[in-house]
Amino acid sequence: MSGPRRLYIKSFGCQMNVYDSRRMADTLAPEGFAETARPEDADLLILNTCHIREKAAEKIFSELGRVRALKEAAARDGRQMLVAVAGCVAQAEGAEIARRANIVDLIVGPQSIHRLPALVKQVGRGRAIVDTEFPVEDKFDHLAAPSRAAIRARGATAFVTVQEGCDKFCTFCVVPYTRGSEVSRPVAKIVAEVARLTDAGVVEVTLIGQNVNAYHGAGPDGRDWPLARLIERVAVVPGITRIRYTTSHPRDMSADLIAAHRDLPALMPYLHLPVQSGADPVLAAMNRRHRADEYLKIVEAVRAARVDIALSSDFIVGFPGEREEDFAATLDLVRTVGFAQAYSFKYSPRPGTPATTADEQVPGPVKAERLARLQALLDEQQRAFNQRCLGRTLDVLFEKPGRLPGQLVGRSPYLQPVNVMAAATLIGTIAPVRVVEAGPNSLFGELPGPAYSSSSVDRPIERAAAGGLETFA
Ligand code: SF4
Repeated sequence: MSGPRRLYIKSFGCQMNVYDSRRMADTLAPEGFAETARPEDADLLILNTCHIREKAAEKIFSELGRVRALKEAAARDGRQMLVAVAGCVAQAEGAEIARRANIVDLIVGPQSIHRLPALVKQVGRGRAIVDTEFPVEDKFDHLAAPSRAAIRARGATAFVTVQEGCDKFCTFCVVPYTRGSEVSRPVAKIVAEVARLTDAGVVEVTLIGQNVNAYHGAGPDGRDWPLARLIERVAVVPGITRIRYTTSHPRDMSADLIAAHRDLPALMPYLHLPVQSGADPVLAAMNRRHRADEYLKIVEAVRAARVDIALSSDFIVGFPGEREEDFAATLDLVRTVGFAQAYSFKYSPRPGTPATTADEQVPGPVKAERLARLQALLDEQQRAFNQRCLGRTLDVLFEKPGRLPGQLVGRSPYLQPVNVMAAATLIGTIAPVRVVEAGPNSLFGELPGPAYSSSSVDRPIERAAAGGLETFA
């Protein structure tokens, strides 16, 4: 072998997949695989797939059509390109992929990615290898840790999976079937991973899980720790400045987690809390296990704990049985809460989920019309939230170069992208930025001039305590 083998991973969907893709790269690195940004150069090409969006499997099959052309071009150059499909589509539809796409050499489910090095060695001629079991061993114990160089190359922010799987069984969702039941990683292993990241320059971690606030990992005292306690522990890892967590379920928004937003300055004032619908009959049909008024009470409590918190959510419109008055209840809930950001989708059936066979499917044009109305309202709220940041000075963590020469892009505490003309040496650091322009999806700011002093930074909690900050309720 003359040089490293080249690895290209394309990640679809959520942060869990981004994290898994990085861990796959880390695990394949000791086997001589180095990442390339050019899919045509790959010796191993992995599609890490997501099953959440509409027609997920069909999208992967058309992606595989493009990959076929690359694989054939490599073969003409005398190179073998191995093709793997990983992630939730692999888990849910592995047999179908093996049957329909003969260019695929390897199909690996999310719980088997630690086996990649062994599986790659087994690839030969003929049928694809399919590994979509839920193995008994803990995959995290078998995934290689990233090298310092790999961490540095990925920047100052990192995802850390703390929990996987879900026991909620919302009737529209495939996660309990593709990722299995809830498993939480032990506190000590998460803390060790965060320490390794900060040691290489990471300052912000996002603790991720399909149902992250159901976290109940073994603590060093032998008891199960809730997410709030884990966050408290992560906050004292040297080098950690910012902590986020996602995705949360309203049922698991416990009092101690809400209090953590008040007590831990490192916990960023941003909460993604999916509600899906504002109508109780729809929430019941979705098996969400909470009512709209319970969601509003949580929002109230979170805002009482951290007055400037930015709220984000997920919505599904046109769920089977959703009547016009149910949809109106969703709009009412949105107006009551005032979201800084949100994701909204038309309901689309996922094979194998109970809602797929429900009566009263809502006609497509009705779903489209409702979605347009909801998105108009959510967009208006997002613009209003961004506008309210005008003139404020926010701490921005600079992540990468912007689109214009000399420009950097960073993130505000509220997760808004902020564009600033600034020296590249600021990448990986946090600096105060005065917001001078607010677009629909991002902010534009300036570094304060020499007159700036650290006491001029807009510290939301201090302003809130002084009674000077607006909320969005
Ligand atoms: S709580 Fe979230 S991950 Fe779990 S079943 Fe419901 S939508 Fe899916």
